[in-house]
Amino acid sequence: MKLDSKRTALIAGAALVAAALAFALSRAGFFSAPDISSLWSWSLDNWETTSVGASGDAVRVAHEPLALARNLALISAAFIGVLLGAPRVVEIVTRSGRAGAATEAPEDLVKTRRLIDGELGTILSLVRSHLDSNKTYSAALAKGHRELAATTSPDQIRAAIVLLIAENQKMLRETEEHQRRLEESRRQITELRAELAETQELNVRDSLTQVFTRRHFDETLAREANAASATESALSLIMADIDHFKKINDGHGHLIGDEVLKNFAKTMSKHVEEKDTVARYGGEEFAIIMPAVSFAEAKLAAERIRAEFENKKWAIKGGAPIGRITASFGVAQLAPRESAESLLQRTDAKLYVSKSRGRNLVTVDTDTTPR
Ligand code: GH3
Ligand code: MG
Ligand code: MG
Repeated sequence: MKLDSKRTALIAGAALVAAALAFALSRAGFFSAPDISSLWSWSLDNWETTSVGASGDAVRVAHEPLALARNLALISAAFIGVLLGAPRVVEIVTRSGRAGAATEAPEDLVKTRRLIDGELGTILSLVRSHLDSNKTYSAALAKGHRELAATTSPDQIRAAIVLLIAENQKMLRETEEHQRRLEESRRQITELRAELAETQELNVRDSLTQVFTRRHFDETLAREANAASATESALSLIMADIDHFKKINDGHGHLIGDEVLKNFAKTMSKHVEEKDTVARYGGEEFAIIMPAVSFAEAKLAAERIRAEFENKKWAIKGGAPIGRITASFGVAQLAPRESAESLLQRTDAKLYVSKSRGRNLVTVDTDTTPR
């Protein structure tokens, strides 16, 4: 991208100098008039007329060769603006919009987005400034063209060409500076985007167990409940709570408690599909959202998790065995026109039935008629 815009500016400059030189030489009589048009026969928009010079000789004059240089300069500005600015604006705005749609974003996300907005602002003002430089450059070229057309002496022509070359060099320097600053902004945006992705992931995954966070669970359950109602498809929920977890912490320490939590999360994830959402609901309580799954199928999954967890042999390295660790479960399926909150309440109520009936159980809500 860097080379392309530089090359475009160089071509514009070369076109300008070639056109100006050819025009000047023809005006000064260094060429025989009939061949001069071949010098810029590649031009997009040139034509010739014949006029009578100061000496009284007929001179062929080519019109607007500098318009090509001006157009190329404008194209280079638009090229840089569109290639470097616009796609990034669209991409980043789309990403930010999507991420921020569900609920209020946390502070670090807001901060990163604000920094990206700032960089986008810089890019837009750079593109604007580049376009302004082009306008100035075009005006200088037009002036040079007018002066060149009015001059007759070789000295005047030489002076006009020197002026045009100086304008062209100034334009090149400005283009390079804009290019450098655009590259810098682009680099910063790349870094900020990586930071944003990392922050978003941190807000979605629980740092200890790596399953989804409560925040993500709430959003997903609301969305899935709406989708299931709209399409009249099944949606089941499992809630699970490790039994007497406090005793594990008290007896073996929090680090061992943490290991048990990680292991439970892994066991849950193992028995469900990729489309299902396993989340840490809080402390030692977990939940699984299961789209397109009936309460009977969800009950089987909960039973498999309960049985595997119960049968694990727990021991501290080089220490005494911990003994059996169990968990209790509640299962329910979304009823027609039921809200996500109501489903959550019914499932939680069944979890506490499992607790009150002695723990290490799966209790399913069969009272509410599912689809
Ligand atoms: P019940 O069978 O009725 O569920 O009893 P319980 O002991 O499992 O439940 P209780 O709510 O009394 O205790 C839960 C404990 O979980 C208390 C809290 O310190 C602990 N806990 C919550 N989060 C973490 C964590 O991230 N790591 C560890 N190690 N412990 C945690
Ligand atoms: Mg518990
Ligand atoms: Mg609990």
